[in-house]
Amino acid sequence: MTSRDHGLTRRGFVSISGAATLLPSAAAASQDFPANPDVVIVGAGAAGIAAAHVLRTAGLSHVHLEAGRYVGGRARTETESFGVPHDLGAHWVQNGRRNPYFARAEASGHRFYRAPEAFRIFTDDRPASPAETAELWDAWDAVEGAIGKAGRRGRDIAPAGVVPSTGTWTRTAWFGIGPWEMGKDMDAFSCADWWNSADSTDYYHAAGYGTLVATHAAGLPIARNTPATRIRWGGPGVEVETPRGMIRARAVIVTVSTGVLAAGGIAFDPALPEPKQASFHEIAMGDYNHITLRFAEDIFGMGEDGYLLHQVDASDEAFGALTNASGTGLAYCDVGGRFARDLEQAGPDAAIDFVLGKLRGMIGSDVDRHYMGGAVTAWSSDPLVRGCYASARPGGYPMREVLRAPVADRIFFAGEACHEDLWATVGGADISGTETARAVVRLLA
Ligand SMILES: Cc1cc2nc3c(=O)[nH]c(=O)nc-3n(C[C@H](O)[C@H](O)[C@H](O)COP(=O)(O)OP(=O)(O)OC[C@H]3O[C@@H](n4cnc5c(N)ncnc54)[C@H](O)[C@@H]3O)c2cc1C
Repeated sequence: MTSRDHGLTRRGFVSISGAATLLPSAAAASQDFPANPDVVIVGAGAAGIAAAHVLRTAGLSHVHLEAGRYVGGRARTETESFGVPHDLGAHWVQNGRRNPYFARAEASGHRFYRAPEAFRIFTDDRPASPAETAELWDAWDAVEGAIGKAGRRGRDIAPAGVVPSTGTWTRTAWFGIGPWEMGKDMDAFSCADWWNSADSTDYYHAAGYGTLVATHAAGLPIARNTPATRIRWGGPGVEVETPRGMIRARAVIVTVSTGVLAAGGIAFDPALPEPKQASFHEIAMGDYNHITLRFAEDIFGMGEDGYLLHQVDASDEAFGALTNASGTGLAYCDVGGRFARDLEQAGPDAAIDFVLGKLRGMIGSDVDRHYMGGAVTAWSSDPLVRGCYASARPGGYPMREVLRAPVADRIFFAGEACHEDLWATVGGADISGTETARAVVRLLA
């Protein structure tokens, strides 16, 4: 297989974001809005899609607005970059059987698989020894243990104040638990919030997580390229402004990220209550990007779906990788936290160079021999998302509840950040959308 087969040069890259400006446009929705629907749904990610199914089943009329060209939001699979499924956002099918996508996939004959969790750990220039690897896992347990202990006690403080800070592998554990999982550094999230997230068993689906979400949206009338710009709620019901006109409805379900809400991506008139506005900032988005590289051979030597981690130094410049995802040769080399934001600013070339440079040190000349090309996401600068997923800032944990509370029985909020313990996941977003829409049905039916 040559790089030319995939339209990528050997050093080539594609820079992509949720908005995917370099990718071909999907057809815009052509249907007209129903006049005065019962409900407007804002956003067609996992939460909005789930909400639409509930309203449809209940027989409530609705208009479903999506600002972007695609449905799925932060769960989208594309094949243009590499010729194989490439998840731009969510890839790990988390939450086991609590995740409604499990039952859906099984019902349609699709099967998830649970890959063996092979891990390879490296220093800067060689594989870590068994003793070093054991040292890392000990450090990992110690860091998780310290955050968990504080969280169990309801301490709404940053992990930075409680985690061990010495040891050769401690910063690697920090990276794994902070930037790699949370999209945040150790000073940017709350122990209490972290503790209140469900343990996850991860699965994979070879077609890509975004494919499953898009399939679930098939047949739903979604008005793409149609942002909600303002929501008026001073009179009876709501008025939702869009570039295609205003929609009057009895209620609105807002499913956009807290990043969009905090940035004022939708204006509310009158302004929302002060605590509600504060919740958009306190349940704050992290930063996380895939720097996806394709290799013609399994240079990592772990078969399908192995993990690679390298020792992290005081610079905190680090990535963790899922290698040879579903046997496609794709390595999702992921960065998180402040470093992800900085690298996103530096651009896709810099991101790819960073990862290739690190890999050369660890693996050697096989990296260049088998490298086929790469693609880099830029979620933090995507105006329709502004980050990866949300978690409470230190001191902000009580704001989770404020975030998910409806306003005046007319403005409802759903989405990953609104789920009690499955936040930051597609499954959590889906359940939040379903539950919120059911509450709307109870109110309006
Ligand atoms: C890089 C990355 C990796 C991830 N990895 C995983 C993973 O492995 N497993 C997992 O379970 N989760 C993962 N997540 C998180 C997961 O993708 C999200 O939790 C989930 O998809 C969020 O769904 P949502 O419906 O709440 O929000 P979104 O998907 O953000 O949907 C909101 C929608 O609203 C639209 N919108 C924005 N503004 C407007 C407006 N004004 N008007 C109308 N529409 C608007 C957006 O375009 C978007 O489509 C990852 C996320 C990222 C970014």
